[in-house]
Amino acid sequence: MSTPTKITGGCLCKAVRYEVNFPEDHDFKANSVACFCTLCRKQSGAVAVHVHILPRSSFAWTSPSATPAAPLANYQVIKDNLRWFCTACGSYLAWEGNGIIEVTAGSVDEECLVGKKDGEGNVIEKGVGEQFCHPEGAVTWVNNSLGPVTEGVKGTRWKFSVAHGVRG
Ligand SMILES: [Zn+2]
Ligand SMILES: [Zn+2]
Repeated sequence: MSTPTKITGGCLCKAVRYEVNFPEDHDFKANSVACFCTLCRKQSGAVAVHVHILPRSSFAWTSPSATPAAPLANYQVIKDNLRWFCTACGSYLAWEGNGIIEVTAGSVDEECLVGKKDGEGNVIEKGVGEQFCHPEGAVTWVNNSLGPVTEGVKGTRWKFSVAHGVRG
């Protein structure tokens, strides 16, 4: 499988767009996270959220511009941590803090994530989904997971984030 170098993504209404240029030595598996925290649950409406961790310098807003402006906005539930979203359509796009940005996997353009398709919907050129949402990546905040509903999710299960211990 070839290593992705660049992807694009954005919100549902297409007003907010971004691009990622992966660092040359980027570790896709180590930075793929399925998060079960209460904040991810509430801000997405999903029981788990797949995000991919990147250095902030590898990520750029391309619309509305490099300088955040409406409809791109952020909400700080934790001081100095920004949850970026589109105020027009509500899409949750990224979480930023401490020099890193966690990009929501679901906001990546389908052609990048799933791949290019032919007229009948068959994938003819694979996307980055398998690397971006590595099935053996990190599963964090498992203390907030929904038991039997989500216990089949693969990956190393950390009690909180990867800075804390693997859940015994
Ligand atoms: Zn939008
Ligand atoms: Zn979370």
